[in-house]
Amino acid sequence: MSVADGFGALPKVNSFAGLPADFYTRLATRPLKAPRLLHVSREAAARLGLSDVALTSPAFLDVVSGTTPMPGGDTLAAVYSGHQFGVWAGQLGDGRAHLLGEIAGPQGNWEVQLKGAGFTPYSRMGDGRAVLRSSVREYLASAAMQGLGIPTTHALSLVTAEDPVMRETVETAAVVARLAPSFVRFGSFEHWAARKNPENLKLLADYVIDRFYPDCRAAGAACVGQAGSTVTEAGAHAPYVALLQAVVVRTAELMAAWQVVGFCHGVMNTDNMSILGLTLDYGPYGFMDGFDARHVCNHTDTNGRYAWHAQPAVGHWNLYQLANSLHEIVPDADALRGALDQFEPTFLAAMQRRMMQKLGLSDWQAGDETLIDDLWTLMQASHADFTLTFRQLAHAPGMTETAMPQVQIDLGDTVRAGLTPFVDLFLDRDAARAWLARYLQRAARDGQAWQDRLDGMLAANPLYVLRNHLAQQAIDAATQGDPSEIDRLVKLLANPFVAQDGMQAYAALPPAWASKLEVSCSS
Ligand code: AMP
Ligand code: MG
Repeated sequence: MSVADGFGALPKVNSFAGLPADFYTRLATRPLKAPRLLHVSREAAARLGLSDVALTSPAFLDVVSGTTPMPGGDTLAAVYSGHQFGVWAGQLGDGRAHLLGEIAGPQGNWEVQLKGAGFTPYSRMGDGRAVLRSSVREYLASAAMQGLGIPTTHALSLVTAEDPVMRETVETAAVVARLAPSFVRFGSFEHWAARKNPENLKLLADYVIDRFYPDCRAAGAACVGQAGSTVTEAGAHAPYVALLQAVVVRTAELMAAWQVVGFCHGVMNTDNMSILGLTLDYGPYGFMDGFDARHVCNHTDTNGRYAWHAQPAVGHWNLYQLANSLHEIVPDADALRGALDQFEPTFLAAMQRRMMQKLGLSDWQAGDETLIDDLWTLMQASHADFTLTFRQLAHAPGMTETAMPQVQIDLGDTVRAGLTPFVDLFLDRDAARAWLARYLQRAARDGQAWQDRLDGMLAANPLYVLRNHLAQQAIDAATQGDPSEIDRLVKLLANPFVAQDGMQAYAALPPAWASKLEVSCSS
């Protein structure tokens, strides 16, 4: 294979296309006018085995813009159903997504999917397109989550085109190519349960188990073994219960990972919940600036169903819908309930572990829960900046003798001279000092050396997150045809825990205009 070889040279598997035809519709993408590559992720390309040279070829642009099919691929749109905002919505599906195929890459198998490459039988009232604004947001969010170490789909490329797209105003069309081992959703299972089609439900469950959760098969074998040589009913169902349990664990871990960086997904409908526990379908998401437990990032979510504080419970509720679906092939409701019951302890343990890391404490001690609850309360009262509160705790008075220079490295001239790190993020500074005194006492009882604690805290608390106003600046530039701000953010967010020279403004508190930004489901 030459370095210039593109998609054509990569081995294809197309496993999803091997499922029966009622799981999807085979179709072609609809080309855009004069598509242009705005940005490409070399890191994502490397997962597939695409060389840097291949990314510059017209053939690459042809595939990621939906102009030509992926050689060796099998283009299709998948069907699924789901609960949207808590209400059964019936059949949905890839309304503007095309699965191009699955590549057996050097770092595992990856499905390549285009978002915005034209309508499909599942488009309902939609046009099958995506606008540049929301495509930039998906592209950046995928990079930001990856940099934070949070499971996510990966954005490979961002293409823009001349075609106008009607939303509230006329906008520019764009296509994101994204990668995941699978785009199967909770809603993919709900679809066959609602259709009373246990055969297809079982096929899908077997597909997911065999490819992604092979250990669940062993759970069935263990049951069979216990009962002797015959396949008992419990043994036959055990892999599906084990699958649910594995998804419960991954989802609970994902919820904790979101909570501790102030990430709000915005549209946690069951059709946006990955069966692999990945963050999937970036729409009106947001990283919180000022802390508000009731923060709702999606302007359309007027009831606050998907507020920050509600996300773990919604994740659990969504898992109930998955369990309900699996009940069609697992008659033993108690076994499914047992798997669901793993959610709360798994989530709480994950939160505890992550909060310990954020606070630089090496073990959980009596009183820690109150200490942490009191910090949230303090942050809530002042709407203290989520990211900077945790980051600056490492620089707070009493943490190190050289606290101030460290904050200067993080924030440079964007901080006032004479600032007291951490404390000055709160309106009630006395309350902040009082909490800090308790925290310092607690930290002193911890076995770690202070320097180790500091290093650990800086490695657990990002300095840079994809604040809405940063994404907006990148969108504004991209709309003028300038991808440089996207490039700057992608590089910055790849390494969000380390202060980078000249990037202090990207860590600073948001400007006043940021509070007026509204993101909604319109995309
Ligand atoms: P979302 O809220 O983006 O996850 O979308 C919910 C459903 O609507 C999915 O099935 C999407 O494929 C579909 N959808 C959203 N926008 C469009 C569009 N512009 N054209 C076609 N389908 C769309
Ligand atoms: Mg979706």
